Amino acid sequence: MKIPVVSLLGLFTVTASLVLRGAPDPNWLGHDRDRPPPTVVIPGTPSTQEQPGMPPSDATVLFDGKEVSPWVAMDGSPTKWIVKDGALECVPGSNYIRSLQSFGDCQLHVEWAAPNPPHDDSQGRGNSGVFFGFGRYEVQVLDSYQNKTYADGSAGSIYGQYPALVNVALPPGEWQTYDIIWTAPRFEANGALLSKARVTVIHNGVLIQNNVELTGPTGWVGRAPYQAHPERTPIAFQDHGNPVRYRNVWVRELGNHRRKEIKAPDTLLDSYVGEYRQGSQGNPVKISRLPDGLLALTLVGEELVLHAESPTKFYALTTDVLCEFNFSGSTKKIAVSVGDDESRSMHLERTSP
Ligand code: MG
Repeated sequence: MKIPVVSLLGLFTVTASLVLRGAPDPNWLGHDRDRPPPTVVIPGTPSTQEQPGMPPSDATVLFDGKEVSPWVAMDGSPTKWIVKDGALECVPGSNYIRSLQSFGDCQLHVEWAAPNPPHDDSQGRGNSGVFFGFGRYEVQVLDSYQNKTYADGSAGSIYGQYPALVNVALPPGEWQTYDIIWTAPRFEANGALLSKARVTVIHNGVLIQNNVELTGPTGWVGRAPYQAHPERTPIAFQDHGNPVRYRNVWVRELGNHRRKEIKAPDTLLDSYVGEYRQGSQGNPVKISRLPDGLLALTLVGEELVLHAESPTKFYALTTDVLCEFNFSGSTKKIAVSVGDDESRSMHLERTSP
């Protein structure tokens, strides 16, 4: 029986969601002697005002005080934010920045400092934000030290939805920490919402959001409903017109992802669209665009969603398919392998457009 791709995608999502709910894995006995022990991780060290601490050994470092390459503008072009005195600083008017890499459920550590001396008040003072879901869901960054504003817009609020449980803001200029546990929303392949996003936030060591369930994307006016997007998306920082600084940013992705994922620029993805053939007689392979930085590969009549591992290498989640684009000069080729050694890839050349 031919199982449609759509239901396979749905099955994958439902399984992931069941594991998320925390029921013991039925594949293992209680105290199962064959069960692998947890991976050994060397813990990090705490930061001080003077010195950022060390991330845990298994963290992906997004900002180490020097290197800006893990960050780009939202469209994938180089960011205009600057690195100054070991901090990544927002340049007002330069727009949001986002991680090149995409992440699903994760533990995110961020340190930030509001400008000192402070300027303006309410939402105009030291405003930025940590966004999940490629700019959809904001954990507010604001100078909330002796600065009156609406409760659900203060530091550590889920903007417009949940105020922080308490205000533990430090004075402007001091380094503050957010430790955030993010659970991405899940969607069926047809776009229906399967489970909502959830967030826990610890601000300067104090719990201020306890596993709250987001109503949908965060926004200034109104509460928009969820709209389907990939489980793994870039993390972003907001440019709200204030030179807020960030340092010691690291993330630990949770869950069983076999490959990393990046969000490739739309212009690059567009350039790959077309029909590819092996010789003049072979069956065509079609590459088309999907929203949210995804491509589709049509192979023997089946459409598979492709996720980017690098700007040239892509993979599917439902079948072990790897695709590698080789575009240089007039060469426009793709190597496709299905469940096999990459040395046995099909090599196809673009025939249209
Ligand atoms: Mg903000």
